[in-house]
Amino acid sequence: MNTRIDLLVPCFNEEECLPRLFDRLRQVCSEIKGISWKVIIVNDGSSDNTLRISKDQLRLNGHWCEGIVINFSRNFGKEAALIAGLDQCNNDACIIMDADLQDPPELLPELIQNWQDGYKVVSAARKSRTNDGYLKRITAKNFYKFFQATSKLEISQNASDFRLLDRQVIEAIRQCRESIRFSKGFFAWAGFKQITVYFKRPEREAGTTKWGGWKLWNYALDGIFNYSTSPLRIWTYLGLTITTISFLLAIKTVFSALIGGVNVPGYASIFTAVTFLGGVQLIGIGILGEYLGRAYVESKRRPIYIIESMQVFEDK
Ligand code: UDP
Ligand code: MG
Repeated sequence: MNTRIDLLVPCFNEEECLPRLFDRLRQVCSEIKGISWKVIIVNDGSSDNTLRISKDQLRLNGHWCEGIVINFSRNFGKEAALIAGLDQCNNDACIIMDADLQDPPELLPELIQNWQDGYKVVSAARKSRTNDGYLKRITAKNFYKFFQATSKLEISQNASDFRLLDRQVIEAIRQCRESIRFSKGFFAWAGFKQITVYFKRPEREAGTTKWGGWKLWNYALDGIFNYSTSPLRIWTYLGLTITTISFLLAIKTVFSALIGGVNVPGYASIFTAVTFLGGVQLIGIGILGEYLGRAYVESKRRPIYIIESMQVFEDK
């Protein structure tokens, strides 16, 4: 029996990229023998012609692939688009790729080869981040370090979401129904035999990135707070340290008052201690708030996405 692979492409305003993506996919996929393909396009509330163009493309490309177009009722974000696509995967494996050709289809044979060699998650990571600015490189590097240190999960550095997932991994990830999602964490959390292959990440083919600095920062926070409670625990240790130091200082102050008479200098030290501790407490409350907010959002158990329409394209 033929091996069947799903290609999952989340799309938000990608009308310019889609025809080029299908061209490249057709070239690559028709050269790989013995595999039948299904392209799953998730239109994540695009305001351009992404929906129409993806349907047109699937009709045009019906000779080599089947397809599904899932159309969200609004923009729910890439993470929601990914799980919506995974919910529709019913084949042997799924390959997640961006619509903008930054995840080159030419890498598919290598991903599939590794999967056929027995790896259940094959991640593609960029060789270097030379395309990114200095600030993005430094923050990304520190994020990975911090994530690894707090969560103990091994996420492959510099890996985007471009990866092949075996059916078993898809089923594991589908069980995670939290609303605040960080896929890179799920891939690592699921376990199984994993491998990373490296590639040079090209620039976007057309259109613009949907991930500005602020969105990336919040995404990084989701990653850390979703997979670790260490940031909560820091405050216990910090509190213990500060209490011990202030206790020792209190003893010293009492003794010097008894021996050297009452002497109350120290406007500067009191001012510093009060403002410093005020700041520390506010940060602590902020971190508590991050967890509380997330618990609140999750407790509502709202659906992760809403589908307005779905269309299936059969192989011709
Ligand atoms: N995307 C999406 N929903 C969003 C934002 C992005 O489905 O709210 C899709 C987008 O269409 C693309 C992929 O996610 O296929 C990656 O987005 P982008 O290229 O903007 O991110 P970058 O490569 O700059 O990190
Ligand atoms: Mg991109």
